[in-house]
Amino acid sequence: MRVEIARLSDEGAVFEGFEPKKVLLEAEDAHLRVCSDIFYRFSAQIVSGELLVRGEISVDVEIECSRCASFFSTTIADSSFLRAYELSGDTEHVDVTDDIREGILLSIPRFVLCSDQCQGLCPHCGINRNKETCDCRPSRFDDPWQALDGIELKE
Ligand SMILES: [Zn+2]
Ligand SMILES: [Zn+2]
Repeated sequence: MRVEIARLSDEGAVFEGFEPKKVLLEAEDAHLRVCSDIFYRFSAQIVSGELLVRGEISVDVEIECSRCASFFSTTIADSSFLRAYELSGDTEHVDVTDDIREGILLSIPRFVLCSDQCQGLCPHCGINRNKETCDCRPSRFDDPWQALDGIELKE
């Protein structure tokens, strides 16, 4: 996404549109799939020789739950995108694409849950406890309080 400096009035301008999803190719891995183009809505204004671009960016993804390892749909967004670009006399345009990509990459959470109630995987048989139940019983090692039963207190 480019801002043409010569066409910018003193009041600035609002830009809204989409960057193609291929911009985010490097973000895709075994845990993340990009599902939409990247939406942006910016206001751009020249202030004291700098171009200020602020607004929001967002993209729809499928991401792997950190607890149960199933994929779910969500939106990654940066609603307080803000960048400043130094302008020299002959700057014709400013390309914001790299910063849009970076803004999304920085907004990808390290730990995500498909829901606050996600039950995760059974540590014994590995089934997804959100979808199935199993007969595994928690062993004494799963229960920190039971482990205390084995401790003899000395007087
Ligand atoms: Zn989950
Ligand atoms: Zn189990």
